[in-house]
Amino acid sequence: MKGQLPFWKNERQISKINNMNYKVMGCMKMSKEKPLPNTKGISEVYWEALNSHQFLIQVCENCQKQIFYPRVVCPFCSSSDIHYEEHSGKGTIYSYTTIHRTGNESFKSEVPYTIALIDLEGGGRMMSRIVRGQERLTITIGSPVKVCYEEITDDVTLPYFYIDA
Ligand SMILES: [Zn+2]
Repeated sequence: MKGQLPFWKNERQISKINNMNYKVMGCMKMSKEKPLPNTKGISEVYWEALNSHQFLIQVCENCQKQIFYPRVVCPFCSSSDIHYEEHSGKGTIYSYTTIHRTGNESFKSEVPYTIALIDLEGGGRMMSRIVRGQERLTITIGSPVKVCYEEITDDVTLPYFYIDA
């Protein structure tokens, strides 16, 4: 209707959209420092375990499904009865890409590197980096992978994966 803003252009929505733009611009900025994950809050147990080279995954008590990323409510059945279990760290490649030009200056010295979506054994899908050198020559959809641990700072260890041939 003429003179009336579309439903999504009320003040609250515009502020939300501007915030999204801000975040996108933030990501596009050439940063010299590598971004670090937020290791507090809901996922604190997961990150603490990684620091001691343990790969945990949430399991729902109600439907028994594995949940990744950490949440307070099961995305399958809405139960809040969730606990952590140690995971084998095994999975298979769902999809992957090799980065040749990075938008973040701090990764410039590491190109080319491979990022993959990994289907975890037992359920759940996560994104991570595939490491240990020859992965770009051997990786394919369905390749078996296993977790390894990359200590980024004193407080942050990232779960990376390697081709488990
Ligand atoms: Zn559930």
